[in-house]
Amino acid sequence: MQRVYMDHSATTPVAPEVVKVMVAYCTEKYGNPSSIHSFGREAKMALEEARGQVAGLIGARPEEITFTSGGTEADNMAIIGVAEAYKKKGRHLITSAIEHHAVLETFEYLAKNGFELTVLPVDEEGIVSLAEVEKAIRPDTILISVMHANNEVGSIQPVAAIGALAKERGILFHTDAVQSLGKIPINVQELNADLLTMSAHKIYGPKGVGALFVRKGVRLEERAYGGGQEKKRRSGTENLPGAVGFGLACELAGQRLEEEAERLRKLRDQLLLGITERIPFVKINGPLGERRLVNNVNVSIQFVEGESLLLGLDMVEIAASSGSACTSGSLDPSHVLLAMGLSHEIAHGSLRFSLGKQNTEDEVAYVLENLPKIVERLRTMSPLYDKAKQSGLSLKRG
Ligand SMILES: *Cc1c(COP(=O)(O)O)cnc(C)c1O
Repeated sequence: MQRVYMDHSATTPVAPEVVKVMVAYCTEKYGNPSSIHSFGREAKMALEEARGQVAGLIGARPEEITFTSGGTEADNMAIIGVAEAYKKKGRHLITSAIEHHAVLETFEYLAKNGFELTVLPVDEEGIVSLAEVEKAIRPDTILISVMHANNEVGSIQPVAAIGALAKERGILFHTDAVQSLGKIPINVQELNADLLTMSAHKIYGPKGVGALFVRKGVRLEERAYGGGQEKKRRSGTENLPGAVGFGLACELAGQRLEEEAERLRKLRDQLLLGITERIPFVKINGPLGERRLVNNVNVSIQFVEGESLLLGLDMVEIAASSGSACTSGSLDPSHVLLAMGLSHEIAHGSLRFSLGKQNTEDEVAYVLENLPKIVERLRTMSPLYDKAKQSGLSLKRG
């Protein structure tokens, strides 16, 4: 068995077609899109074609796409850009407790600098309720930001309804769609999104490239000063190989979306079901069925530490994650799982498998063969597990 990579929500390998086109834009076609000569014009055309490919995947117009250095920058640009541009209208902002750090930390920065923030709770499945959004809205609310699909537990949020509510109240709506892009259909009109964040490296594109959709008419305060590229939204010579690679990755994701979603959904359910059947005292985190991202498996395995599980899996060449890649390394339990009402103890034993293009049924079977053994070995060291096994009380199977 080759190494099994099941951490696609952290990052993905770059598709070979994408690598090829990127190399061409590093070598023969290296012009600066701002130059007048033929090298520059060739680069400019490629940049605009890439913009069209990104726009095409989300039902936007090319001129509504701004390339960035990734999802993090796009989130920062959207949130700070709107807050600064609309602060005369109001200073109240709304987001949810399960956002990526790129969103949460940005809002916390604003909350320390003259803005007021409401952080919406989620239910036990990790979903924001429309009623809570409605309750949080104030006359001075200028921006609501709720992610499309959560990176840890795969919960898909009711963004179309939240967007509709925002629109009705004259409030701008931003959604971080990094995890849903290319996995489920996205249409910015249907989602009523004014701003939408994307990242290339989660969809088989290169790291360090992303984009922000900004609906025509939405103002953003300029944040980087310089040559005025990207309609003055992001000065600096464009990352042409990155943008071209991202464009192609979007095109490929769109072509394969439905077929791949179906395949991943099947693998996901095999893995989820297999884990709960083979291992006692396991809790599935996040929703089941249609409200769960097609590639996400997240479980809490009681009486073991997530970190020990990861090391055990790594020894048999399986790559997974506990919490999000950015928070592992610290011992804080995931803010997402805590927001869903899990205790610190249960949150600590959480494990995420995020499936992708190269995963197969054989690989799922390999994980299902190895994970129970690792869990069993770790649990022999847990006195709590012995007790639970004997009493069979409060802790349910499944
Ligand atoms: C990965 C991720 C980001 C950050 O994107 P980068 O391109 O790595 O900066 C933002 N939001 C979500 C939901 C993510 O999963």
